Amino acid sequence: MRPARALIDLAALRHNYRLARSLGGGRALAVVKADAYGHGAVRCAAALEHEADGFAVACIEEALVLRGAGIRKPILLLEGFFEASELPLLLEHDLWTVVHAPWQVEALERTVLPAPLTVWLKLDSGMHRVGIGADDYAEAWRRLEALPHVRMAVKMSHFARADELECARTREQLDTFAAATAGLPGEVSVCNSPALLGWPQARGHWARPGLMLYGVSPFAQAHDLAAQLRPVMTLESKVIAVRELPAGEPVGYGARFVTEAPTRVGVVAMGYADGYPQFAVNGTPVAIDGRPGRLVGRVSMDMLTIDLTDHPQAGVGSTVELWGNQVSAAQVVANSQTSSYRLLCAVKRVPLHYA
Ligand code: PLP
Repeated sequence: MRPARALIDLAALRHNYRLARSLGGGRALAVVKADAYGHGAVRCAAALEHEADGFAVACIEEALVLRGAGIRKPILLLEGFFEASELPLLLEHDLWTVVHAPWQVEALERTVLPAPLTVWLKLDSGMHRVGIGADDYAEAWRRLEALPHVRMAVKMSHFARADELECARTREQLDTFAAATAGLPGEVSVCNSPALLGWPQARGHWARPGLMLYGVSPFAQAHDLAAQLRPVMTLESKVIAVRELPAGEPVGYGARFVTEAPTRVGVVAMGYADGYPQFAVNGTPVAIDGRPGRLVGRVSMDMLTIDLTDHPQAGVGSTVELWGNQVSAAQVVANSQTSSYRLLCAVKRVPLHYA
């Protein structure tokens, strides 16, 4: 069997969830959209089912996978519904929905449902992606509140730049949120991972942590709270071939690495089709049998190459960690044209092993 695999540490996931929950205002929806950021939504949700206050996914399709697997806790649809005909299905499967656009308010007004649907009304406080505008928010809340088939639950918004710890724009978003929701009943939810970790003044009743659950810091710089996170995924594989090259020889596509001295190159069964970033640069850290090493040459679809010159004991069969406990995902991100979010979501083809 191909040795590439991702080990998923569910105890670390639970540890990170507990940290997120302890920072929030009491309750936290574990964000498990996009197959739990590549970690496997069903297994991750099942591991958190007993302690999580609920889960958040992008859409009904993702929620139904969780319900089908026996997840009974509340599930919030972050993108809400896409057409009014989905609304009975939301009730049937006990799903909560975000309402983020005027057409959704109108769709709810035109619909009659046999029982109240739980709604989180989203404000566009300045990110300008989805959300009801600040001037229209209170009116939208009141219109929905008047419907017998709607239970207005939470006032929510989302930050665009909470990962920048001194960002005036985030303060403006908070002020806009406070002004637009003033006097309305309901609970508050504004925190994603960077806001939970870095913006204590933003904490509301419900947090919505995603990235931090998987043990990855949302910040580019060191951060005390983020340092308490434990990595959940370890991506690893093995050396499948070794090349002894003299000085001056190119390695891989595009000759992006040329040996400066006699070099031992190890070929690892892991490529960009598995989710490893194609444009990770020469020198990106890896761990070879537990010792620090480096990537050399362009990453191929199914293989990548590492420098084994200073690893005389290593050879075919040596274990190579691409990220996890020894090499942080953030270190790989810093050496690739990608983000932590995309790094994790891109993982595919490799089997996930749970512990
Ligand atoms: N809330 C909303 C509305 C989101 O779209 C996301 C993720 O994109 C999250 C929460 C979780 O964000 P993070 O992964 O930064 O914690």
